[in-house]
Amino acid sequence: MTYPDSILYQVTKPARYTGGEWNAIIKDWDKTPIRIAIAYPDLYEIGMSNMAVPILYELLNSQSDVLAERVYAPWVDMAALLQARGIPLASLESGHPLKDFDIIGFSLGYELTYTNVLNMLHLAQIPVLAAERNDSHPVVIAGGGSVLNPEPMTDFIDFLVIGDGEEVLLELVDYFRSWKRQGKRAPKKELLRKVAAIPGIYVPSLYQVEYRADGLIKSIVPTMPQVKPSIQRRIVTKLPPPVTRPVVPYIEVVHDRGAIEIQRGCSRGCRFCQAGTIYRPVRERPKQEVIQAVEELITNCGYNEVSLVSLCTNDYSGIDRLVADFVQRYQSQNLALSLPSLRIDSFSVRLIDSLPTRRKTGLTFAPEAGSERLQRTINKTIPEEVLLETAAAAFDRGWTNLKLYFMLGLPTETVDDVNDIVQLVGNVRSLGSKVSRRQPQLRISLSSFVPKPHTPFQWVAQESEQQLTTKHELLKAGLKRKGVRLSWQDPKLSLLEAVLSRGDRRLGRVIYHAWKLGSTFDAWNERFSYENWLKAFSETGLEPSFYAHRERQLDEVLPWAHIDTGVSTAFLKQEYQYAMDGKPTPDCRYQECNACGLQRWQPDCQKKEQASVKTT
Ligand code: SF4
Repeated sequence: MTYPDSILYQVTKPARYTGGEWNAIIKDWDKTPIRIAIAYPDLYEIGMSNMAVPILYELLNSQSDVLAERVYAPWVDMAALLQARGIPLASLESGHPLKDFDIIGFSLGYELTYTNVLNMLHLAQIPVLAAERNDSHPVVIAGGGSVLNPEPMTDFIDFLVIGDGEEVLLELVDYFRSWKRQGKRAPKKELLRKVAAIPGIYVPSLYQVEYRADGLIKSIVPTMPQVKPSIQRRIVTKLPPPVTRPVVPYIEVVHDRGAIEIQRGCSRGCRFCQAGTIYRPVRERPKQEVIQAVEELITNCGYNEVSLVSLCTNDYSGIDRLVADFVQRYQSQNLALSLPSLRIDSFSVRLIDSLPTRRKTGLTFAPEAGSERLQRTINKTIPEEVLLETAAAAFDRGWTNLKLYFMLGLPTETVDDVNDIVQLVGNVRSLGSKVSRRQPQLRISLSSFVPKPHTPFQWVAQESEQQLTTKHELLKAGLKRKGVRLSWQDPKLSLLEAVLSRGDRRLGRVIYHAWKLGSTFDAWNERFSYENWLKAFSETGLEPSFYAHRERQLDEVLPWAHIDTGVSTAFLKQEYQYAMDGKPTPDCRYQECNACGLQRWQPDCQKKEQASVKTT
């Protein structure tokens, strides 16, 4: 029941749409009463590298009466053909049109995929606007990191899952189960009212947003007394079992390897980092569980490379012993381990150096800021001598390619801070020539700072395109040296990211218009049309700079004010003030609790953290 050959012959990479991969779960459609489509609004190759989809896929399919199938955003050639021939977008497993499912659940990890959500619904022949869907249509839900500010997508999604999905999804399934047993489909309105009572579920149509004359939000309040005024993020206290039988793609995908989540959350407290707030607290997977999971993953999938995934991998207690264990276990099998997200220190270099496959293709580190002053502001202090020591250890062990990430436009950044990046890169380069006696290859990757919701910088303004371009030009001139390559993200794209991350409910109109004008795959340079977005803004009477370039007052009602991550606003305000004062906040994992707010929900949070203090 896949798409006709006549279509597949005409598109790039037809295997994106054929399904039938190894470990795909195909259940009997007619005998399985609850049918859920897990939708990822980006290309197959990107979606197949995402960690959340396999977790939800396995969890839902583990229920005997639930069938979960996948669907990814079709690339433009496929989308055009489906549209032209009137063929509805279908799932990969059974090839059933999405409109035949009970629920379509979007995984939203990145704001620049929003127009793809609309396009997928449209290609599925389902009304894009929630208000235009009736009881015969699937219920459209969404979860993931970017729904911690759900407002820009509330015109299109019936309800959203805030936080870890593992427990709440099963609660939802329970509800659907009893609903289905009634032998009839309850009206959608009734369904939404019921699920609104589940902690972590946000039903936007049950909340009203009022605006002041100056365009700021006056209030966000439930429309019914029994609806909760704020939505608490769901947190699983213990990591659920890892996925060890994921679907194995037939074509090359972005991360072509197995992956085991060894740890969720990060307590380092970098002030620009949204993940540092919305995935707190730190939860480690026990070592034995990781070892067994890797063994099963290799057996079930045939991978010869496994990634140990975490926001900061070398914070995992005893990571060096875990790696040494793997090296010994798999030395005859040529298993490669990859450790993404490493901190800058010589311990990381030694760790990488101890890996069985030492393809010295390159090391990546993220100092983010060039000066120690700015590093203190963002609470990510890496003294220059530590960076140089780390680089020296890497050069000494044979690496000649280093990639360094910096962020431009950070709060309080001055031209001096930007010049410090030039100076720092120059010092690393000279050191590389001295230590390795070869010209090191340095790749400098620049991104523009986006003030994200639920961070201490949620109130600050994003720098204008002009300011960012000036700083970029400064770096381009300063780093014009042999062996140094500079890349950077288009500031217009960062502007859109800021708008979509910080937006309110009114932005739904802009997203809708931009999509109508042809915008999809906005994160792809070749697809991004700034003109479309500007036109969409002007047609809806809204201003992008109102969302991106405006500093918020500390008492302003923010569009995400009703979403409670557990980290309190008082803590974020204190962190903002500390940032302005250049005052650091220590990592609560190694020092005492900073009272970020989570202790209200998890009084033993700090105790658990201390129990797992790194012993390396
Ligand atoms: S409650 Fe305390 S220990 Fe837990 S994450 Fe927050 S600051 Fe850290």
